[in-house]
Amino acid sequence: MQAHSLLRRALVVAAITCAANVSAQALPVQADAAEAHTAKAFETARQQGPLALHAFLATMPKGGDLHNHLSGAIYAESWISQAAADGLCVDIATSSLLDKSTSRAPNCASGQRSAADALSDQHLYDALVDAFSIRSFVPSAGHSGHDQFFDTFGRFQAVTPQQHMGDWLNEVSARAATQNEQYLELMVTPPFAHAKELAHTLGWQADFDAMRRQLLAHGLKDELTVDERLLTQALAERKRQQHCDSKQADAGCAVQIRFLYQVLRGAAPERVFAQTLLGFELASVDSRWVGINFVMPEDGYLSMRDYSLQMHMLDYLHRLYPKVHISLHAGELAPGLVPPDGLRFHIRQAVEIAHAERIGHGVDVMYEDHPETLLDEMATHHVMVEINLTSNDVILGVSGTNHPLPLYLKHGVPVALSTDDEGVSRIDLTHEYVRAAEDFGLDYPTLKQLARNSLTYSFLPGESLWTTKACQGETLGDSQPGTSCQRFLASSEKATSQWELERRLHTFEETH
Ligand SMILES: [Zn+2]
Repeated sequence: MQAHSLLRRALVVAAITCAANVSAQALPVQADAAEAHTAKAFETARQQGPLALHAFLATMPKGGDLHNHLSGAIYAESWISQAAADGLCVDIATSSLLDKSTSRAPNCASGQRSAADALSDQHLYDALVDAFSIRSFVPSAGHSGHDQFFDTFGRFQAVTPQQHMGDWLNEVSARAATQNEQYLELMVTPPFAHAKELAHTLGWQADFDAMRRQLLAHGLKDELTVDERLLTQALAERKRQQHCDSKQADAGCAVQIRFLYQVLRGAAPERVFAQTLLGFELASVDSRWVGINFVMPEDGYLSMRDYSLQMHMLDYLHRLYPKVHISLHAGELAPGLVPPDGLRFHIRQAVEIAHAERIGHGVDVMYEDHPETLLDEMATHHVMVEINLTSNDVILGVSGTNHPLPLYLKHGVPVALSTDDEGVSRIDLTHEYVRAAEDFGLDYPTLKQLARNSLTYSFLPGESLWTTKACQGETLGDSQPGTSCQRFLASSEKATSQWELERRLHTFEETH
């Protein structure tokens, strides 16, 4: 690294001007010459159109993807190949893979075919790719993008994590690496059959304390070892497939992975409570699980009916397990999808009752009661919004001027771009960066800020680089920072990943 380059990248105490501020900044940075040069090159690419923008953004360091459902991230082609390997049958009428207990190739029943047939029958192959994703999808009466999107999950779920989670981790981390991502926070629902059974047996009680006591007394925690083992095996398999312990390690090995425990919100309250409790218990004993999230269509009957009740469950459990982080799908709604009253309070309750540190989607924010004060509150408390542009377009039909991204930015609410379900949507994170630049005119410094946010607001442990004084005066991302900075970085996984992002940004800006 040349001396002048070090100098121009030295930290200067000055306010960052970007709208999407990082939280409580003690270590502000100022745009330097390299960034200005890169920003200019970015604008040139923009003038040339989306293809040039894509080429520019493909290798831009993007930090992490904080809103990524592992099963939704797998491409249809992988489901087909794994189903074929497992000897699964396909129900032709619904294009759904069938559980091995139902039937098994080569003895598939009438109206079924072997998934392996798709490898030699292009028509079947195409039908399955379309069924497992939004490819070729055209809405029709009674079947919206929302329906197609959520229906895909039931069609490929016969391919199980017990057999293939290692393959999935390989796929998503390899794809992340090619786009210069370094961190994934993947949402996964580990087995919870025992919790489900206990919930059913014990039934619903309005007294959270009594419910928790009884669930624990009846062995809710027995399932923890099953869930821990699943992750251990999957991570080991990913490591094996990517040769992470060898000198020929794949690029995917460098992508750090953590997990968010998905609770299925569209279920009876006793089951939601039991599964949420299991998630908090798991995240308390296994640091690979960094938090909790609630999933399934927010507009579903039970999700809507029990929304406030579920927020109070989280409030109760958060008090008992304060170290477990919470991010919540909230406001993944649009006018017409639910009655107007249903749009008025989900994001606010997620923040004010359920202690959500991050909001997934937040699309209906302007239909909430007192939206401006809510936006200001989120900015003040640094509640980040995970923005999923393609998903919002496909599922909710919300895009362009109907999307609140510019309002979040205007109010200084921190945001980051994420993919939601890159396999089902057949996109990647680069695609979302291009879309943000094209549809909302975001410039390079703003996109860079969003990349920084994706690590600042990650649930990796440790203090943020932006709040410490230990690295003041240092060159961000330098390979040999001073002693106190080094000591600080060693103490914080989050700051270490942020430092790495700064190193990558420096490299990128030197060459663009
Ligand atoms: Zn999601």
